[in-house]
Amino acid sequence: MAELPSTARVVIIGGGAVGCSILYHLAKMGWSDCLLLEKNELTSGSSWHAAGNCPNFSGSLAVMKMQAYSTDLFTRLGDEVDYPMNYHVTGSVRLAHSQDRMDEFRHVTAMANHLGLEMDMVSNAQMKEVYPFMETHDILGGVWDPNDGDIDPAQLTQAYAKGARNLGAKVIRFCPVSGVRRENDEWVIETEKGEVRCEFVVNAAGYRAQEVGRMFGREVPCATMAHQYLITEEIPELEAHGKLLPLLRDPDSSYYLRQEKNGLLLGPYEEQATPHWITKNDPMPEDFSFQLYPDDLERLEWYIEDACARVPLLGTAGVTRVVNGPIPYAPDGNPLIGPMPGVPNAFEACVFTFGIVQSGGAGKVCAEWIVEGETDGDMWAVDPRRFTSYATHEYCVEKAKEIYAHEYAIHFPAQEWPAGRQARTSPLYEKLKAKGAMFGAAAGWERPVWFPRPGKDEAVQKASYHHTNWLDAVREECLAIRDRVGLMDLCGFSRFEVSGEGAAEWLRGMVTGALPKAGRIGLIYFATEKGKILTEMTITRFSEDHFLLITAAAAEWHDRDWLEQHIPAGSPITIENKTGSWTSLVVAGPKSRDLLSSVCNKDFSNEAFPWLTHQPIEIGMARGFAVRVSYLGELGWELHLPIEHVLGIYDKLWAAGEPYGIIDYGMYAMESMRLEKCYRAWKHDLTNDYSMFEGGLERFIRLDKPTPFIGQEALRKEKEAGVKQTFAPLLLEDGSADAVYLSSVWKGDKRIGFVTSGGYGHRIEKSIALATIDIDCAAEGTELEVEVLGERRKAVVAREPLYDPENERLRA
Ligand SMILES: Cc1cc2nc3c(=O)[nH]c(=O)nc-3n(C[C@H](O)[C@H](O)[C@H](O)COP(=O)(O)OP(=O)(O)OC[C@H]3O[C@@H](n4cnc5c(N)ncnc54)[C@H](O)[C@@H]3O)c2cc1C
Repeated sequence: MAELPSTARVVIIGGGAVGCSILYHLAKMGWSDCLLLEKNELTSGSSWHAAGNCPNFSGSLAVMKMQAYSTDLFTRLGDEVDYPMNYHVTGSVRLAHSQDRMDEFRHVTAMANHLGLEMDMVSNAQMKEVYPFMETHDILGGVWDPNDGDIDPAQLTQAYAKGARNLGAKVIRFCPVSGVRRENDEWVIETEKGEVRCEFVVNAAGYRAQEVGRMFGREVPCATMAHQYLITEEIPELEAHGKLLPLLRDPDSSYYLRQEKNGLLLGPYEEQATPHWITKNDPMPEDFSFQLYPDDLERLEWYIEDACARVPLLGTAGVTRVVNGPIPYAPDGNPLIGPMPGVPNAFEACVFTFGIVQSGGAGKVCAEWIVEGETDGDMWAVDPRRFTSYATHEYCVEKAKEIYAHEYAIHFPAQEWPAGRQARTSPLYEKLKAKGAMFGAAAGWERPVWFPRPGKDEAVQKASYHHTNWLDAVREECLAIRDRVGLMDLCGFSRFEVSGEGAAEWLRGMVTGALPKAGRIGLIYFATEKGKILTEMTITRFSEDHFLLITAAAAEWHDRDWLEQHIPAGSPITIENKTGSWTSLVVAGPKSRDLLSSVCNKDFSNEAFPWLTHQPIEIGMARGFAVRVSYLGELGWELHLPIEHVLGIYDKLWAAGEPYGIIDYGMYAMESMRLEKCYRAWKHDLTNDYSMFEGGLERFIRLDKPTPFIGQEALRKEKEAGVKQTFAPLLLEDGSADAVYLSSVWKGDKRIGFVTSGGYGHRIEKSIALATIDIDCAAEGTELEVEVLGERRKAVVAREPLYDPENERLRA
């Protein structure tokens, strides 16, 4: 058996499909001085017993890209590493029982085609051609993915390991990692066979990721569920059929069904989701290698009957084998791949629910993080930093149960899922709830999304791709803000107070543009080394070296780590995270000045308090500061207050606001109004899928700044070479749905970009899509089409902003 080396550049903890793929991809990128440590035998976690299905289909672009990379790799890997594998490319059909499902299929198919993947909408007759044993009388149609299939997961894992070893990387089995420590900027990995010093470390420990995470002081958000499939006896008709049937997925009934040799393999995601090892009375065993849970077919009865009705052949054969194995779930069902939050030079690639089909892409992504410091394309959907302190054990278990039971559910835009709610609430939560507010959660924070109108709206949150029950109420909110004044509890912003000698100069090197002068506020953008969009913050400058940086609720750990990791060692600059202790109320609309003047002894006139400035304020019994800015495009102020004051100040503003026709409004009104102003939203219009130039942010880049900044070289080169894509606001002809995130944009028969945000603008009475498109199609007035749920809708390129182009209402 191989000896444990004393050093390695990277140590990967865990030898399942994912860990071995990372080792292989690192070696492929030229990093062969890497070591994988496996507690038991390779594949002994979840990988040995997986069903091995390999779909490309996913509602997330990042996940679809990973899966497509894998399915392509699987066709070559055996030859590349000289390890033949059972990989069957059978194609798959996915069935739709409803128009909503058809809409989802049309949207995802367009996304796949946009990536260059083959995937098609098909009729029942077409499905019957490839799957003659299926009943289709109650089906509306489906999707055909010709590159779907199944792979032997153990062989795949061994193939990655062999490929890595061929390139000089090392694998040591039966070598559990028992601890880690940080010494002299290196990691020391502790095992019973000795210690290894390394520069980087990866937690690829599958469902044991929490155990390994704790060695780093990190609580990995994860819950282990039991997932089962059954395999039948041989079925003579399948043998007679002569070729493998495609995979069949019935997402509305929630199962997959595929041919396994001459039998069938059925795997449901059942309503009664069953977590394991979640209480202190049921701890995870020290060793569960190559083990399974007891069979529990009772849970699957309904699904088995449903599948037998769909494919009557299934009911003709007995069950020969049941596999009931551990499968880890993150709170949104996507894996964790990327930097370990708050821990230097440590990465996570764990908690995979579809870790076989995602292993290839995950290996590539994780290797890119380590070798290049960033990924080729946006990977926020799987970034470990997307969950922050609210993702406790209980949260993870509740969300895992919800996701498991809805594994195949449609994720509509603006859908607010019920599990794991009230993780973080503002002091105004109960008050707004009593007023009827409907809530959505952002990074655990409950925020009002809309207010049903008494006597007019049903107080339910209906989800749809199409305009739904809240549209009219949101229109009223928008118009009331336009004409009068609105008040919103905008809790949950991530806030970092940056101060100390040299803070300004340090920030100049971090951001692409200029800093505002003291007393003013501004927008600052951070780019990656490759010039891609990293993040956006609102900066409030109190004095030469004293700033408040405000950023998206979801960005808290992402942005915190970026800032903290870039502070030079020994620097006097400090960063204080004030996310939970301060909050904001937004007062917006033409009457906001009158309202604020009536409760606050301050001059809110244009001369005394101009646009994009800030001042300390005292209202009632609170001291804070006000910022003259509005994401809604109307005259307005944000009031920033210590959180304990917000209830009293809300009451005071509300009471004083009644003569001005004050209303409460929610996030959906804000979303509609920011679209009209073309203000960008993080991880929609601002992602590292494109550069600062491609995001239309040229006015925030100062290439000639005396202070060098991150991304400067890449942006300079891009500008010299010529920018190929840009941001464009599009106005769509009316329809029952607005453009969905990642809808394709067409010019004639050419796909020229995709939608980054879509929605209805109630002030301009138009359906809006913000998009990133080829630069030569971006001239104002260019006629294009946007493919919304399979329908090509006419669209025209407009000029930003779409509402109040001279910002007169903001400066009023
Ligand atoms: C019934 C079932 C069916 C499935 N079907 C599919 C499917 O069709 N398609 C699909 O894509 N996915 C499927 N999955 C999911 C898939 O099995 C997992 O997502 C995948 O195996 C995860 O791979 P991994 O490498 O992340 O984790 P694992 O395979 O669990 O590997 C983690 C490894 O880390 C090791 N380890 C843990 N702690 C330590 C330590 N301290 N030191 C050293 N090593 C350690 C473990 O021993 C283990 O070998 C299925 C799962 C189940 C249960």
